[in-house]
Amino acid sequence: MNLTLEPKAIRAAVAKLKFRTQAFIDGKFVKALSGKTFPTENPATGKPLAQIAACEEPDVDRAVMAARRAFASGAWSRQRPADRKQFLLKFADLLEANAGELALLDTLEAGKPIGDCATMDIPDTIHCIRWHAEAIDKLYSHVAPTGPENLALILREPIGVVGCVVPWNFPAQMVAWKIGPALATGNSVVLKPAELTSLSALRMAELAAEAGLPAGVFNVVPGFGETAGQAIGRHMDVNMVAFTGSTEVGRCFLKYSAESNLKRIILECGGKSPQVVFADAPDLEAVANNAVSAAFWNMGENCSCGSRLIVHKTIKDDLLARIASLAKTWKVGDPLDPRNRLGALIEKAHLEKVLGYIAAGEAEGAKRVFGGKRILEKTGGYFVEATIFDEVNNRMKIAREEIFGPVLSVISFSTEEEAVAIANDTNYGLAASLYTRDLSTAHRVARAIRAGTVSVNCFSEGDITTPFGGFKESGFAGRDKSLWAHEQYTELKTIWMQLA
Ligand code: NAD
Repeated sequence: MNLTLEPKAIRAAVAKLKFRTQAFIDGKFVKALSGKTFPTENPATGKPLAQIAACEEPDVDRAVMAARRAFASGAWSRQRPADRKQFLLKFADLLEANAGELALLDTLEAGKPIGDCATMDIPDTIHCIRWHAEAIDKLYSHVAPTGPENLALILREPIGVVGCVVPWNFPAQMVAWKIGPALATGNSVVLKPAELTSLSALRMAELAAEAGLPAGVFNVVPGFGETAGQAIGRHMDVNMVAFTGSTEVGRCFLKYSAESNLKRIILECGGKSPQVVFADAPDLEAVANNAVSAAFWNMGENCSCGSRLIVHKTIKDDLLARIASLAKTWKVGDPLDPRNRLGALIEKAHLEKVLGYIAAGEAEGAKRVFGGKRILEKTGGYFVEATIFDEVNNRMKIAREEIFGPVLSVISFSTEEEAVAIANDTNYGLAASLYTRDLSTAHRVARAIRAGTVSVNCFSEGDITTPFGGFKESGFAGRDKSLWAHEQYTELKTIWMQLA
């Protein structure tokens, strides 16, 4: 389905949507073995959308067995890379042919603005699958520099059955970041979407099967973290888990691994990203635009959300005035209306958490200069205004904890040393931005900030060619995107030969 970004066309497309609600195991949609289901809800209305199969340990076990059988058969894992590439390219084509539908599913389930889903999330999802597919028949293995009496091959082999556990904030895109490289390198996958957003992942699995991926290669087990997620983490026949989500749950996966089969764990976790603006920033209006996007895009439900604006005291008032006036143009409302830049927060409990942070900011003495309230309550949805706090110091709760909502904290500094110290004074280290006209300052500060991606004079996470992941408690042992993502889904093997 192709989607025209116009309210009437969007409403008509929504009316035609069909939801896939069962687990996808061994090439088929199936009920959970217990028969249990759970509701998924539209956060813009508070109303249920569908009942989803609630997978538990026996379902995960069934999916892992299917994945293992598929892996052992070699139908995917030992296929020529050029052939795997063709199947994945076909998969990407099918995603593209159904891009409008996928965008609507993510908007309906996650409250994300349709404009963002249709023009960013889903195109990036498709591009990610294509990029990893294109890479696989261009990567060479190594021959070691041994003496003439030996030949040593150093090869990359798929690791086996990969469990992927993903969050709700970019439902389709997070699936692609995991399965793109995991499938391209020949693994079988058992994926658990977040319980709040299962629909696009289930449709993606169906499209992968339609593209010709053998049964069992890509399985989706919707369900809750404590049950389905934990079962993947503790399964004795899962070789690796690729997780994206909170740091708190990330820690659980390290424990599950330690207490089961020492499966490889890679974690992409939370953030509290600084945006550092020096007095010589090139274009304050452009900085203001970037700062607003960094803080409020995706309602701030973004791991690399630039939630701390660390700005030189001499330009703070000017920049803040520009940011506040731009923030007014970010309309909040029905995520299906393409004019709205901010949709609904994911669920009621999360809305309350974000409002709790706003209250904490005021209680600790920060000055609320914009927004701060729940709005559009009559819709039944979970909408909150974009919110800006001035006079924040880095010890306050709003400056330390990941809010995961549209709340920007403004902190002033006087010297470069102070700015770097504030930027680094966090347990997280996922992303950062800095703004300066001076090349030396840019290089020095980009090196000094402890974060996986530092953007200069922009707000960016890079693109598919650059690795994405965090320092400190923002990540563990891995990266999404780029060829570095390929490597982590493989085992390194040496074949040492004695020559006659
Ligand atoms: P979450 O940690 O609550 O859940 C993530 C996934 O883990 C879900 O599928 C959930 O069901 C599962 N889970 C929850 N409890 C579990 C348990 N005890 N055992 C096993 N699995 C469990 O995170 P969320 O609320 O879905 O997403 C928001 C978080 O994700 C934020 O912290 C955000 O920063 C992070 N995130 C990070 C990146 C990145 O690339 N670094 C990208 C997107 C989101």
